[in-house]
Amino acid sequence: MSIKELRQRFQSRFSMQTRICMSFIAFTLIVAGLLWFFEIILLPGFYYTSKIEQTREIASDLLRNYENAGYAGYLDNVAVNNQTCISILDEFGRPVYERDVMSGGCLLHGKSSTLFYLIGEIHNSPGGIVLKSIYNDTIQMDTLVLGTIISDGSKVHGYLFLNTALEPISSTVALLQKLLRVIIMLLLLIGTLIALYSSQRLSVPIVKLTHSAHRLAKGDFNTRFEGGGCREVDELARTLTYAEHELSRVDTMQRDLMANVSHDLRTPLTMLKAYAEMIRDLSGDNPEKRNAHLQIIIEETDRLTALVNDILDLSKFENGSLKLEQRSIDAAEWLGDIIGRYKGVSEKMGYHIHFTPDEPVQIFCDPARLERVVCNLINNAVNYTGEDKNVFVTQINTPTGVRIEVRDTGEGIEEDKICRIFDKYYRSENHKREVVGTGLGLSIVKAILKLHGFDFGVQSKIGEGSVFWFEARRPSGQPA
Ligand code: ADP
Repeated sequence: MSIKELRQRFQSRFSMQTRICMSFIAFTLIVAGLLWFFEIILLPGFYYTSKIEQTREIASDLLRNYENAGYAGYLDNVAVNNQTCISILDEFGRPVYERDVMSGGCLLHGKSSTLFYLIGEIHNSPGGIVLKSIYNDTIQMDTLVLGTIISDGSKVHGYLFLNTALEPISSTVALLQKLLRVIIMLLLLIGTLIALYSSQRLSVPIVKLTHSAHRLAKGDFNTRFEGGGCREVDELARTLTYAEHELSRVDTMQRDLMANVSHDLRTPLTMLKAYAEMIRDLSGDNPEKRNAHLQIIIEETDRLTALVNDILDLSKFENGSLKLEQRSIDAAEWLGDIIGRYKGVSEKMGYHIHFTPDEPVQIFCDPARLERVVCNLINNAVNYTGEDKNVFVTQINTPTGVRIEVRDTGEGIEEDKICRIFDKYYRSENHKREVVGTGLGLSIVKAILKLHGFDFGVQSKIGEGSVFWFEARRPSGQPA
């Protein structure tokens, strides 16, 4: 590994780890900041607000249960349970009930001047309620005073005063601050440790994967993708391994393609050139020879045209730019027509194409494209069949459609090759020049059958021959 690569590796790992650590620490700080804000900054305000709320609630409870207010036991309970002094005065301001829970420190007991001053305030305030924070010398702390009128809506029956201590919470806040400082330090420490550990666990395999992916991008198909750290990284490693496998397959196929196509192009081109030169130099004046040479030129041009057409057609089938024109046709009649057209040529060359039809039955397909499938299969069967030169085409009606089989009596296909013969440009290594082919025939067959959604396959036995089949479907709704 070069120094540059080593540096890059270190930098990417370091930066990833740093980023993960920083994120964790930032998260910890945000959590700590929020804790601080809520506990320290908002606590006093929250305390006072809840104290006011609580005192208001006690007052409205007492006013609602005014009839019970006469029972000292009830009022005592409320005062003691809420640690609130209660004073009830009649409409003339004379005490009716008093309960001091501040050991003689209640601000209002016996303080008629303060009470009369507050009664005046009550009458002047719009809601008929007074809420004040007053410092109490006896208990030496602020207290909250709430005063309100006891009335039935039309007549004033008296006045209710509540007085509760506002405990100084500065000591609580100071204690909380201390506690929070410790908690924040601990959070930071634990957060950093977790961040270091997790970033290490995450970044190491990811950095390794990134470098392996770089090697793969440069064309090294022997790169190993190792997972680790977490499930997602393992999944990524598996996906990259799969991608590598597929890329390597495509690469091999492309190499094969270059070899096959260049071989298939070079041969006819060489022959075209050779025969053109022969016509120019030798046979130009001899009509018989010239015609023979021109015939060869025409045949080789046809071979080239077939190759180029196959390549174009296949790409059209595969990228979906060709749409099927499907309709119902009679399978037996359609197959009979195709085989009839072969008769003249095949018999001239000594081949026998035997057709076994079944009962007439409709199938739903694009007849022109499906004819291409049948022709490709018959051409292959003719090319690869045995010395007897027999090819058998059979129509077998099934409950769902029609199975069409094309059988030859050739050498058969080895088991490990069967899964590859439908691949683009695959041609068996031992194919002979006289077996004209582009290695695209079966890929076109597969593309057309897939477009139709028909099942297809091949069964082959070494030394006995092969059966290529597909199953065309009936028009939907048609009974078997
Ligand atoms: P081509 O026939 O042009 O080589 P195909 O795609 O039609 O291309 O076939 C791919 C390969 O499959 C052939 O090269 C041959 O090895 C094998 N193959 C196809 N049909 C048969 C057959 N009937 N018998 C034996 N091998 C066959």
